[in-house]
Amino acid sequence: MKPSPRLCLVPAAVAAALTAAAAAPAPAADEPERRVQVAMVNFTDSRIPDAGKLETALKDNYFGAKGSLTSYYNEVTGGATTFKAAEGDGVTGPVDIDLAATGCDTGKINDLTRKALAAKGVPEDSYDHLSLVFPSEKAGCDWLALGTVGGGTTWMPIGADAKMSMTALVHEFGHNFGYSHHMRLRCPDGDLGEGCKEDGTSHKTPMGGGGWEAGLTSPELLHNKWLTGGEVAKPDKSATYTLRPLYGNGSGVRAVDIPLGDDRLVVELRHESGTLDGEIQGVHAYRVPDGDYAKSALVDPTPDADESTGGDAPADADALGAGAKLTDKARKVEVEVVKAGAETATVKVSLDGVAAPAKAAKPAEAAGPVQDEPADAAPEKAAEAPADARPAGNSTELAETGGDSDTTLAYSVGGGLLLAFGGAFLLKSRTRRSAATSASPASGRHSR
Ligand SMILES: [Zn+2]
Repeated sequence: MKPSPRLCLVPAAVAAALTAAAAAPAPAADEPERRVQVAMVNFTDSRIPDAGKLETALKDNYFGAKGSLTSYYNEVTGGATTFKAAEGDGVTGPVDIDLAATGCDTGKINDLTRKALAAKGVPEDSYDHLSLVFPSEKAGCDWLALGTVGGGTTWMPIGADAKMSMTALVHEFGHNFGYSHHMRLRCPDGDLGEGCKEDGTSHKTPMGGGGWEAGLTSPELLHNKWLTGGEVAKPDKSATYTLRPLYGNGSGVRAVDIPLGDDRLVVELRHESGTLDGEIQGVHAYRVPDGDYAKSALVDPTPDADESTGGDAPADADALGAGAKLTDKARKVEVEVVKAGAETATVKVSLDGVAAPAKAAKPAEAAGPVQDEPADAAPEKAAEAPADARPAGNSTELAETGGDSDTTLAYSVGGGLLLAFGGAFLLKSRTRRSAATSASPASGRHSR
């Protein structure tokens, strides 16, 4: 088994800080509109070559009706949270800041731009997210893009072609919503005991190398309370559930959120819907450490990379087929997939060693165990923070553009933490990339 070097290199102090950052407040469900201010930034030694062209492109990238940041989050949240342009049309500048591009000083780019915006009548309380777009050429940032975890700032260097990586944009705003990178746990034979080992990214979300063709995972939706009422079942005793796909039409249970000691185990069914999940299919399960839905990881029962996404197998080879079982003997929890169809799946959940009933309850009964108080069930109680709350500790992470780099480094800027990871979090695997390229021309399905 190939160990993942990425997180191993993060010093303990940094890992602790990252944990604190991940607990930063998520946008509250009663703040459905997030105001986004995009600022084009000029340095003293490097300027945006064609601001008019870039402004047009950015309006489309961030706020366009189709193939935009806004349309992506509208689709994954079912309209529960949307972005809207702050202050006029949401794209301003270029603003000139008294800073050289060389050195890519993220803290200063942020501070100086916020001050410049305030000076021209765009105060900080007029936006929830600030996205800094600046020329990449001389800045020489080692990463493709950067976002604060649980905060509202993103750094998006842009080349002379004015082309934005939409996967990077969706990914960085995912960090703003509080998400960590999304990893894979290999648990051979579905044993949830001590034998699980982290192995790369999950490929089930833009936060884990799935590209923005992927929706968010059910734990990520749960983190921001985007699954509500009867959409999530929380069994407190053995039960059998019929699952509907996580995205798409129809009512019913879309995720089963199961107690596993201090952790949770969340089970979902994925199926293509709209622009989402074209390459993700089947039943998947996620381990949620200490109930922190922003830090879940895929549970993959296949023993090594050759049998799932790491090799040439289809991307959904790690799905749980009929008969698949996940077991935690010590905690007396067993999850068995009875049926794994495209449109529905049946999952038996046995708690305390009690066998689950063979059949799912009727929909009304199935909704029985559902708790209608998701706010109380969520681990974070910090949602009262103001909409313009800056990230706790100003922690950020950044993702390299290299793609082949497995390097992780951590350093501090202006008291805030920056974490740099390999590009695997942003990029889909080579296998899937080439498949996608051959299936559709250059710009892909989202730009249709
Ligand atoms: Zn990232």
